[in-house]
Amino acid sequence: MKQRLTALILLCALLTGCAAAGKGEQPLTATVLAMDTVMTLTLYPGEGDGGQAAMDGLRQTLEQLDAALTAGEGGEAAALNAAGGEWTAVPRSGALLAQTLELARLTGGALDPTAYTAVKAWGFADGNYTVPNREELDALKAAIDYTRVELSEDGAQARLAPGQQLDFGATAKGWAGDLLRQQLEQGRIVSALLDLGQSSIAAVGTKPDGSPWRIAVQDPAGDSGDYVGILELSGRSMGTSGSYQRYFEQDGVRYCHIIDQATASPAQSGLAGVTVVADSCLLCDGLSTALFVMGLEDGVRFWRENSSLGFDVIFITDAGEIFVTSGLKDSFSLADGEEREVQVLE
Ligand code: ADP
Ligand code: MG
Repeated sequence: MKQRLTALILLCALLTGCAAAGKGEQPLTATVLAMDTVMTLTLYPGEGDGGQAAMDGLRQTLEQLDAALTAGEGGEAAALNAAGGEWTAVPRSGALLAQTLELARLTGGALDPTAYTAVKAWGFADGNYTVPNREELDALKAAIDYTRVELSEDGAQARLAPGQQLDFGATAKGWAGDLLRQQLEQGRIVSALLDLGQSSIAAVGTKPDGSPWRIAVQDPAGDSGDYVGILELSGRSMGTSGSYQRYFEQDGVRYCHIIDQATASPAQSGLAGVTVVADSCLLCDGLSTALFVMGLEDGVRFWRENSSLGFDVIFITDAGEIFVTSGLKDSFSLADGEEREVQVLE
């Protein structure tokens, strides 16, 4: 009996020893379906860092956020949209609404959550795609106006102008990324990659060996999974908006799911993809949508004029040209075999 116990203790010591040797190198991964996309969460917990509990916590947060933020049934955006211009309780989305409206102001309405009025009319919400006629477009243009969205001082109630519809499609994944990262940082997980889907990514720290995370940047002109380059990311975030992510084609024209408020129509800015890198995942998500609408020239000007925000950008045009702002000079590299030139913007 004593011998068996000794053997058992020895075995346990060996197993623990193995675990310790591999400390931090065995990832814990989970796939979560939320916010209309597939999210992949990868944690590298150290020994005894409660990795599974942390993962369960992230999953729970995502489920709660998804239910609160959706413009689909039961969400606060849906309640706002159904309220016909009356004040509506937004206890769980008020803070996101405040930040989204702030980004709308900053980008001169290139980001505008009330673009959802047009998103719906064009059929992007339910898949019944249609090109609205001129009168319909004029009415939509009048309705897309973030300055007419009111938020109560305590941020718990909001109201839209009659006829407006709103969603958090352009910022919810970024908001979620920041919240999940905070959740991990409050715990003891110092190495994690949170892929919130459609290239919204929040990195916690570095890989366990101290090297940066390496993220593939999708080639807008390629098939899903074809990438133009690799972005190295440590403890920061990235967000991508592209015309290839959701679109329909009619009479040879491609209509994507990002709306330009100036036309109430899918943005045709000459850009095919925009990736933003910054500390905040919300900033990345919101700005990638806004810069996509602005196009290269206005987007570069916005980058130059707002350096205090601390973000960098990869712009890929419809013609396939690649422009990278100076802060990414060393962290972005072309994929093997990719022969395009990368133009660095100063
Ligand atoms: P994805 O969700 O594919 O990552 P984005 O972050 O760019 O893409 O957000 C696009 C979504 O945001 C659309 O599906 C729509 O619901 C909403 N939207 C479309 N145009 C705008 C806009 N100009 N400003 C804010 N939200 C928008
Ligand atoms: Mg976005």
